[in-house]
Amino acid sequence: MSETIVPLIYEISAPGRMGCTLPALDVPEAELPAEFVRADQAAIEEIIRSTGFFRNKAKSILACSAALLERHGGRVPGRIEELVTLPGVGRKTANVVLGQAFGIASGVVVDTHVQRLSGRLGFSSRNTPEKIEIDLMEIFPPSDWIELSSILILHGRKWCNARRPQCVGCPGCSLCPSADSFGS
Ligand code: SF4
Repeated sequence: MSETIVPLIYEISAPGRMGCTLPALDVPEAELPAEFVRADQAAIEEIIRSTGFFRNKAKSILACSAALLERHGGRVPGRIEELVTLPGVGRKTANVVLGQAFGIASGVVVDTHVQRLSGRLGFSSRNTPEKIEIDLMEIFPPSDWIELSSILILHGRKWCNARRPQCVGCPGCSLCPSADSFGS
């Protein structure tokens, strides 16, 4: 669900910067939540149909938009404590929004790629995003937190995918403690 809230909130905060899954909406940013609340769920589902799980996501968009209107005047708050109280927004989403829209390093975004890479590269031996994030925040300085996730995600997509990591040719091979584990 939160994957749609990310571009929704991001688009409200910084329209056009994310290349998000929402099509161009000819609505001023501060009016987007009100527009979503006014729209019926079917109309929102149609906009995001290509993203998968679009019915649940449409519900979250409506709920999040209503909360933004009610509690924040339609603006996206710039504090993690407030973001995580919005429907459909967890710590991962809040970190994305703060990092990408506000330039605030509130933590490290831990998605499935970051989780996998953190284990293989020896950054964390723990198995929940919350605990892995703590380990990454201890290893890396705050100035690296925003970019770190992007680097790990791109590396995971290009070289270190879940089923068949391409250790031969991986630019991190000589430093990676898992390089000999996959026999590729
Ligand atoms: S050497 Fe292999 S396991 Fe290590 S980061 Fe590269 S692809 Fe992933």
